[in-house]
Amino acid sequence: MHETMVAESLLATISAEAVKQNAKPISAKISCGMLNALNDEVLCFAFEAIAKGAVCEGMKLEIEHKPIQGQCKKCGEEFEFEFSRVNCSKCGGDQFDLLPDAPLLLETIELETE
Ligand SMILES: [Zn+2]
Repeated sequence: MHETMVAESLLATISAEAVKQNAKPISAKISCGMLNALNDEVLCFAFEAIAKGAVCEGMKLEIEHKPIQGQCKKCGEEFEFEFSRVNCSKCGGDQFDLLPDAPLLLETIELETE
């Protein structure tokens, strides 16, 4: 399952950082693209399950879904693509390329030192 793999890799990264700084992780913020088939609830559930008894137990995960970006073929403007509004925000053109979906990123980790 996709979420379990993501949760495992997040846990490994966060744990390593916590050990390095000799601190306890409180929360972490991750971001991914809209097209990423990541289910927030499933991810949090998977993370909680594998974090049990480890340094990451009880910490909070925050997930931000980044909008898809389009680039206008006419004027080159990059804009947030919405399915309800498929025109360039600058020139109104309707010919555009969709830019690659944002990758899954671990943005910040909040750690607490005793
Ligand atoms: Zn344009």
